[in-house]
Amino acid sequence: GRDSGAVIETTGLSKSFRGFTAVDGVDLTVSEGDVHALVGPNGAGKTTLFNLLTGFLKPSAGQIRLSGRDITGSSPERIARLGVARSFQITNLFEQLTLQQHVELALMGTTKLGHRFWVSDRVLAKFADRAGELLDEVGLARQRDVPAGTLAYGQKRALELALALALDPAVLLLDEPTAGMGMEDVERTVELVKRIRANRTVVLVEHNMSVVAGLADRVTVLQFGRILTEGTYDEVRNDPRVIEAYLGG
Ligand code: ADP
Repeated sequence: GRDSGAVIETTGLSKSFRGFTAVDGVDLTVSEGDVHALVGPNGAGKTTLFNLLTGFLKPSAGQIRLSGRDITGSSPERIARLGVARSFQITNLFEQLTLQQHVELALMGTTKLGHRFWVSDRVLAKFADRAGELLDEVGLARQRDVPAGTLAYGQKRALELALALALDPAVLLLDEPTAGMGMEDVERTVELVKRIRANRTVVLVEHNMSVVAGLADRVTVLQFGRILTEGTYDEVRNDPRVIEAYLGG
């Protein structure tokens, strides 16, 4: 953590589904430049909290601020435009398009140019260069011209990261970036997140505690929709309440 101000700040954030409160009065502060992990047993409310932060769900109560600006109830599009990008757990790629094409499309989508029928060669070349850089950043430079459908699982997840990075987000939300990965891919992903965290704030939901240990400056433990405790990885892992939360449920 290169501690400056709060990038994300929630106060009393709550979400109920037909009487069931999945997120219950959460006061979360994510500091600029941190990798901040959200952990907790299944059903703790991590995904719901992510969906609130990205505008996919509207809060039942409470506020969300992004760098001091109130974004409570803002649309996902607006929150994305304000610099929050999310990499999904579920792969949603076009099997036939190459990696280069995927990233170029993502880049075009971020500009008004992308909506034009005709774009100059010079502009297209710029997109192509930037796409190449992003693929290089996530370790996929050599695969740039292969169809996404031929990628191995870990590579698809890396491509999704490149697509999120195409938005040049100030805040990157990663939903279980190592889910379903073998040990080698997990290690590669940890190294990748370490590289891409420069100039960014990263919030991640992660079940693999060695990944949390390797990446997180700050860890928030959720249980029953509430913050159970918060601190560095070493602080929270020795907290008896955390041990009990995991063993108990
Ligand atoms: P986590 O990601 O920590 O596993 P979730 O945020 O997915 O937890 O879920 C928290 C609780 O909210 C769970 O009990 C879940 O069943 C419930 N929940 C989540 N989404 C909905 C929904 N759309 N409708 C009803 N209940 C939901």
